[in-house]
Amino acid sequence: MSPEEPQAATRWDAQESLPLLPEFERTALLLDMDGTLLDLAPRPDAVVVPPGLIDAVRTLRNRLDGALAIVTGRPIETVDALFGDAPHAVAGEHGGAVRHHPTELVERPALPTPPDAWLEAAKRLVASHPGALLERKARGFALHYRAVPVAGPLFRDALANLVAGRDDFQLLPAHMLWEIRPRGADKGSAVSALMARAPFAGRLPLFIGDDVTDEDGMAVARAMGGGGLQVDAAFGTPAGVRAWLRQAAAIGAWPELMPPA
Ligand SMILES: [Mg+2]
Repeated sequence: MSPEEPQAATRWDAQESLPLLPEFERTALLLDMDGTLLDLAPRPDAVVVPPGLIDAVRTLRNRLDGALAIVTGRPIETVDALFGDAPHAVAGEHGGAVRHHPTELVERPALPTPPDAWLEAAKRLVASHPGALLERKARGFALHYRAVPVAGPLFRDALANLVAGRDDFQLLPAHMLWEIRPRGADKGSAVSALMARAPFAGRLPLFIGDDVTDEDGMAVARAMGGGGLQVDAAFGTPAGVRAWLRQAAAIGAWPELMPPA
């Protein structure tokens, strides 16, 4: 048996488990940003929006009567800086901030802020690991170790110690980062909040994401009769997601899913 064969079988399994997509006209499209719409970059501030992507997102939004949102762990301001008003709604900070329309104010569910001492501890960790990055969020923070992978386990242990015994905060893994954020909001609660309002209400959510935290969003989307697509299994790469979305924008229908061969 060649080494390729088991891998092919795994991919076939992934293909078998791809969900039926909601009818295009009835879909509310909910898109993660980093690792889904955009390629991951060495630093979070180094992501690039490829040419044509904003137009494709805007065209899709119009074809879906506005029902398109970006649902990300990043602050809403970051999405604004990268995508402008192309998405109708944005949920940032893993559900910690929701804006239902580009001209509306940001809504924030009541959540705790991490103690200052935790931030000081995070700053010390970053200072002692050149290349590591501290990303502040309104109610939490993330430690990025992409440039110093060896620091990953140490950061995890240090942050786990901070949140140990607290039921109001949690430590979450993502691509080359650890994040502390309050419990009580996640991408699932963001999907619920978005789907409660026009133009999303009454539609079937389709959530596309690449990360552990996206699974909360997919679970809520599926529970509402919609679907969730994992980038690796359904598209292979963010470039695959973008090609699929561009085609959907062009034809006004969901293209056939062609999982990576
Ligand atoms: Mg992501």
